[in-house]
Amino acid sequence: MNPYSLPLRALRQALVKGYQLGRAMRSPQRRTLVLNYHSVRPAQLFFNSTPTRVFEQHLEWLVAHCEVVDFAEVCGPASHKPRVAITFDDGFRDNLEFAVPLLQKYGLKATFFISTGFLGRDPVILDIFARTFQTTANDFMDAEALRELFAAGMRVGAHTHSHRNLLSLSAREQEEELGRSKTILEDLLGQPIQSVAYPFGVPGKAFDLTTTQIAEALGYSRGTMVCWRGLRAQEPVFRIPRFTIVRESLAELEAIVGGAWDPIGWYQDWRFSLRASRQANKPYPLAVALLEQQAWMELVHCRIPGLL
Ligand SMILES: [Zn+2]
Repeated sequence: MNPYSLPLRALRQALVKGYQLGRAMRSPQRRTLVLNYHSVRPAQLFFNSTPTRVFEQHLEWLVAHCEVVDFAEVCGPASHKPRVAITFDDGFRDNLEFAVPLLQKYGLKATFFISTGFLGRDPVILDIFARTFQTTANDFMDAEALRELFAAGMRVGAHTHSHRNLLSLSAREQEEELGRSKTILEDLLGQPIQSVAYPFGVPGKAFDLTTTQIAEALGYSRGTMVCWRGLRAQEPVFRIPRFTIVRESLAELEAIVGGAWDPIGWYQDWRFSLRASRQANKPYPLAVALLEQQAWMELVHCRIPGLL
């Protein structure tokens, strides 16, 4: 999902404006949410890089206005301040060079979800990233760098081995991807790996209920996706939502923490429910179906059970 595509950018800006207009009338919210960064560097930015200066502004604001918690504790009790967990995906080397020193400066910890294919310099995955995102092997941590990050007190989770869309794989292949990265990281760090982030992460597009069941069976304790809303009171622990964060201004970050973008997350949830309904061969609500592009084709073909 490209967070800067024109329709999504316009929607995000409209939601921020709406949030700012309504802020004075809002009562303080007890919210918990997870932020998801990728690369953090001062220059020569990738498409998903957060400039170091912006990242530090974010940390400064979060420390002043939120309770920053470990990702592993994100399902805990609400606080009087917004509770926020910080995560990173993929395993960019700049995380160790630039993000970790800033996290330490502000006394914070973050969880880093690592695709172990990068660690092992898997040529297939490196080639995909080189062509798609113009990265090279040196842009990613090796085993030594990851040990250094872990020794600095940071948390580590798995992000599969090959960073492929899990929904494009068979159940057996998904098991291989999720299990292999867990084993490699546990061998490397000598500690159980209990958290997993699904690559690309969009519910119903990058993983489904089969994926979460496999993750649970492999011994993971929690899984996280890309879904732009805060956590609910009884959040399924294998579908913890996260906001993609790249270069958001402080006004946007404040609005995200306050809940401005949650309607986008609700829509993403509906998409996941639709897929689950279809897999179970059950009808699904019209209101949900109308939000799904595929629904228009289904209306034409009179395939929505119980409605036509
Ligand atoms: Zn990723």
